[in-house]
Amino acid sequence: MALSIVEGCVNCWACAPVCPSDAIFEATPHFMIDAKKCTECEGDYANPQCASICPIETVILDAAGDPLNPPGSLTGIPPETMAAAMAEIQAR
Ligand code: SF4
Ligand code: SF4
Repeated sequence: MALSIVEGCVNCWACAPVCPSDAIFEATPHFMIDAKKCTECEGDYANPQCASICPIETVILDAAGDPLNPPGSLTGIPPETMAAAMAEIQAR
């Protein structure tokens, strides 16, 4: 079991220092998680530390491919509201 970092990561470096397993590394085009090292923080913390500190929604996925910080979870903006705002901006 391991988490993964996907497109959308802004390479902010917040997650790497808090990983207890030294599983996160800088890469191109974005940071990555070494699946062989990631323990999902089991035995060290109650929650995955990388996802707890990551400021960007949807870029850290669990083993099933679901985001630990889903849309709206950090901004507080419901996904429908965000989609409507983006549509309005693009229509200008
Ligand atoms: S879940 Fe924990 S062990 Fe896995 S990459 Fe994130 S911080 Fe490291
Ligand atoms: S904290 Fe999130 S945005 Fe920052 S480097 Fe890690 S995965 Fe990327």
